Amino acid sequence: MRFRSRLVVDLNLFAENISQLRSHCSQNEILLMVKANAYGHGLVPIVKFSVEELKIKEFGCATLQEALTIREELKDLEFEVYVFSDVQLDVSDSAHLYLNRRITPVISSLRDLKWVLENKEFAHLPLSLKFNTGMNRLGLESYQVGDVISLLKANGRKTIHHLMSHFASASLFIQKNKQSQRQIEEFAKIKKELTAAGILFEKSSMSNSGAIEQDVGLEETHIRPGLMVYGPSSLIPKYKEKSWWQGKNISALDTYIIKTFPVEKGTPIGYGATPCPDNGIIAVIALGYGDGLSTNYQGATVHHKGFAGIICGKVNMDMAQVLFPSQAEEKLKEGDYIRIWGHDTADVIRLAEETGAITYELFCQLTNRVPRIYSFR
Ligand SMILES: *Cc1c(COP(=O)(O)O)cnc(C)c1O
Repeated sequence: MRFRSRLVVDLNLFAENISQLRSHCSQNEILLMVKANAYGHGLVPIVKFSVEELKIKEFGCATLQEALTIREELKDLEFEVYVFSDVQLDVSDSAHLYLNRRITPVISSLRDLKWVLENKEFAHLPLSLKFNTGMNRLGLESYQVGDVISLLKANGRKTIHHLMSHFASASLFIQKNKQSQRQIEEFAKIKKELTAAGILFEKSSMSNSGAIEQDVGLEETHIRPGLMVYGPSSLIPKYKEKSWWQGKNISALDTYIIKTFPVEKGTPIGYGATPCPDNGIIAVIALGYGDGLSTNYQGATVHHKGFAGIICGKVNMDMAQVLFPSQAEEKLKEGDYIRIWGHDTADVIRLAEETGAITYELFCQLTNRVPRIYSFR
């Protein structure tokens, strides 16, 4: 692990983001999405803080292993955890873990639903069902509602614990997006059919960050925020004014300057001998693609002491080179901390544009060579 290159996670900012979310969505319970290592911010510390300090009670993972990790590491805490996609109910070794560790699988197929209903051991498993309303990825199909109802009735079940669906295009302007509107109608129809058949659902949710930010789906009992609680808006920059969200980036990615040296335009730099685009001064920084600073960062901007540098030459596994203007020479010091992104979400949004990525990806791609350091109060 590194020391001076690190992701500093400011839990006060996380708490502020959650409180902003709660005051805007005062009628909704939060099912916090913590898949992919809490979007790169550290699964266990984020869940622990959320339960202990913020009284969040429900979490969403993508894999059974993620859910097991928080159950095992946070044995004394009371919370509910869902596994959304990589459920693996049909793997006999994993199925019993749902029961033993109180993990709720989100059922997305008739096959899994049958399996659970017909397996006596699972008679008390809370049923969480996810319907496909237009995402066309996972989910029970809306034309299968009748089958779902018959299956539930045949097995003496009248209650769905949590009924869900998922938006495909919440990063766009939902009010003007036909596909999202169709998804909303489909979900309403599914709920109506279930209700008409006497099936109750205790909880329901549809909205990910993009939808929450546009006040869509707040009539359900729950919201399922991911990206926004870590800082950035989920809306694409073109629609950013459609969002009320004013989150702070909870993380800052810091590294330091290992070495500086002056260069002339054309000097071959690093692997592949990329000619330096200009005269200036090079700062070698201690982050590379082995840390999650992908090769797409070539050409991206790094600000330091009022100067803008450009990542030039190929990003290496362990290092990258930043070209600063010659005037920065006096100011750049070996050993200086240098910030790749800070708490203003504009930083990661700009980097996503410059690297052709999405902010989700910039967070998730950080490897465990970058220590996560937590600050609170
Ligand atoms: C990831 C995920 C979310 C959260 O999505 P964001 O865009 O990060 O808010 C919500 N629901 C489900 C099922 C998810 O997989």
